Amino acid sequence: MDRRLTDRLDALYAIGAHAAGADRLAYTANEDAAHALVSTWMADVGLEVARDPVGNLFGRLRGTRPELAEVWTGSHLDSVPGGGRFDGPLGVVAGLEAVERIGRQERTLCVVAFRDEEGSRFGRGCFGSRALCGLLEPGELDTRDAAGIALREAVGNEPSPGGWLDPPLAFVEVHIEQGPELERRSAPLGVVTAIVGLARLAVIFDGREGHAGTTPMSARDDALCKAASFVLAVRDTAERVGHGAVATVGSVVVTPNAANVIPAVVELLVDARAPEETTLAELLREIQVAAAGARLTQLRRTSPAPMDVGVRDVIGSAIVEVGVDVQELYSGAGHDAGVLARAGVPSGMLFVRSRNGGISHSPDEHSDDADVRRAVEALMGALRRLASSA
Ligand SMILES: [Zn+2]
Repeated sequence: MDRRLTDRLDALYAIGAHAAGADRLAYTANEDAAHALVSTWMADVGLEVARDPVGNLFGRLRGTRPELAEVWTGSHLDSVPGGGRFDGPLGVVAGLEAVERIGRQERTLCVVAFRDEEGSRFGRGCFGSRALCGLLEPGELDTRDAAGIALREAVGNEPSPGGWLDPPLAFVEVHIEQGPELERRSAPLGVVTAIVGLARLAVIFDGREGHAGTTPMSARDDALCKAASFVLAVRDTAERVGHGAVATVGSVVVTPNAANVIPAVVELLVDARAPEETTLAELLREIQVAAAGARLTQLRRTSPAPMDVGVRDVIGSAIVEVGVDVQELYSGAGHDAGVLARAGVPSGMLFVRSRNGGISHSPDEHSDDADVRRAVEALMGALRRLASSA
């Protein structure tokens, strides 16, 4: 099995690979090629292959009791620009491997590859799973990429706004951690407790433009100095709130942005995340206080997505059965499992230890073969359990 799984990861990575990673952006020829390749693997082992209106790919192994709700596993095949070998493809390939090895069960097993999880091209992640679940934003299909192509043109279809989800019994997504936590705990596998909620804020500080040479220090209204205090306050706030809260100012636009002019306007983007709703709410409240005097707009907000307790237990038991201690952790990154959870599908995630300090979205992204092997075995156990009607 080892060879087949790593060969498949290699084959997917080869699509769009260059010296600095692989490019399989959403709805490009490369993402199409990855979906086409996986669909041949699905067909080769006798799965029934289907695609939905936005191109999400499904491979079903019909159960002995097909009238029962299905059990899904999978992830995505698109990448960020310069993406790594494991982010996304691992969940699809591990799902395929597990389904091939356990064979027909009572419930129908379905390996799914979602489209456009990363959102690198159109700006908003998990498009495929959100379209399926009827969770697109109003006007989202009009979003254009850098080349001016609208999302609806790229999809080539007008998906029904209500989605078309026939809810499965459960969804289990295998994914690399993309962080340092499991490596720090010397643990190969983890069960995700929740996927963080995320808020994006625009904060604008106004000052007064002036000559950098002739305006006395006492007579200045420097927008960047106000913004600078705010940036540090955002960091301190997240540290003080704790409980997994993180907040980042990653974008600063200074106007007029000239060496000899006192900054008149500074626009910041704040990314704030937390694994629990109360923590996220507190974090946002505190950031609002820190932004007193500035113009603050909440651009978007997604609540944390707790993983289903029952599915978590099944994954945890399956991890124990392969001889590994159960480690619980939350996910700081968004995932398709979070979308399905928000749509009411009992969902769970099995994280695989990321090496190299947890680096991801990079060619240095790495997980050990032995960890991947254990993840597949644990997934087999979890799918077997979920797919039995008892
Ligand atoms: Zn991913």
